[in-house]
Amino acid sequence: MEESEKRRPTRKVMVGNVPIGGDAPVSIQSMTNTPACDIEATVAQIKALEDVGCDIVRVAVPDMASAEAVRSIKEQISIPLVADIHFDHQLALKAMENGADKIRINPGNIGSKDRVREVVNMASQKGIPIRVGVNSGSLEKPLLDKYGRVCAEALVESAINHALILEDSDFRDIVISIKSSDVVMSYKAYQLLSQKTDYPLHIGITEAGTPYRGTIKSAVGIGALLLNGIGDTLRVSLTGDPVEEVRAAKEILRACGLYSRGIQFISCPTCGRTQIDLIRIANEVEQALEDIDKPIKVAVMGCVVNGPGEAREADIGIAGGRGSAVLFKKGQIIKKVDEDRIVETLVQAIKEL
Ligand code: SF4
Repeated sequence: MEESEKRRPTRKVMVGNVPIGGDAPVSIQSMTNTPACDIEATVAQIKALEDVGCDIVRVAVPDMASAEAVRSIKEQISIPLVADIHFDHQLALKAMENGADKIRINPGNIGSKDRVREVVNMASQKGIPIRVGVNSGSLEKPLLDKYGRVCAEALVESAINHALILEDSDFRDIVISIKSSDVVMSYKAYQLLSQKTDYPLHIGITEAGTPYRGTIKSAVGIGALLLNGIGDTLRVSLTGDPVEEVRAAKEILRACGLYSRGIQFISCPTCGRTQIDLIRIANEVEQALEDIDKPIKVAVMGCVVNGPGEAREADIGIAGGRGSAVLFKKGQIIKKVDEDRIVETLVQAIKEL
């Protein structure tokens, strides 16, 4: 697989035991959509996210009960936890006290310098990084007035201003995100930001939409950035089950040559030459292989025109014929399989690899 552009060098910060930036692999984040104070539901959702490969999880902490719940949630999960806080520095302090591995808060919104210093002191003491997260929907009024509208330059200036407040308190364990639901604006903003700072960047398209549209928008925006070497951690934001966010994130990383675990799946679009039910077969094989973590390239091809070529390039694959298919393994034809046994035979052969 071709590699994407060389990654832009960034500082490394540690979120619990997961590094972000530097030479660390691009990590996958998601966010729970359960109230944090419903500890049971939140833990169950985080475990489901862990199971599909989420590296870091974020929970909204809108009140003291949620900040209190952080401790109990942390005790029951294995991946680092980020507390997402707006405005109230007391919530940030409580979440950190209770074991949050990172907080997301914009220091410019906390209020007095003393409050910022309190947050920074605790974060420094505990080795907790802070994400400055600028969002096009909540851009500060002076910047809106200065630029006359929400634009990439305004988002970048806002992010840099927030980071400077932390730097003023000698704090540099910073991750920055600047999110917009506009793909082109996000792309420009992150490009601009990456020229101005070496803090690691959390990338994503915010409020991207429902799984179909949201995945496409995220793939275009995040994918374009990653192919330009920009982005140290990412979240795909979907209106849906957060598990789908992690699945989408993995596929985006895989397509950019930045994720080698699990199945790399190739299947042909089918055409008038297809003589087996390839759509069903491809879907069933893909589903059956979801939990496999080993890097294996699998090709499910409809016919012998392009089929054997792709199937031979893959670790394993099939090329369809009339009511049957040929099974290839590491470039060698293994056997002919009847249509009704293709899925089972291919899945079995992959599991044996
Ligand atoms: S591999 Fe064969 S069946 Fe599939 S799209 Fe190409 S030509 Fe058609």
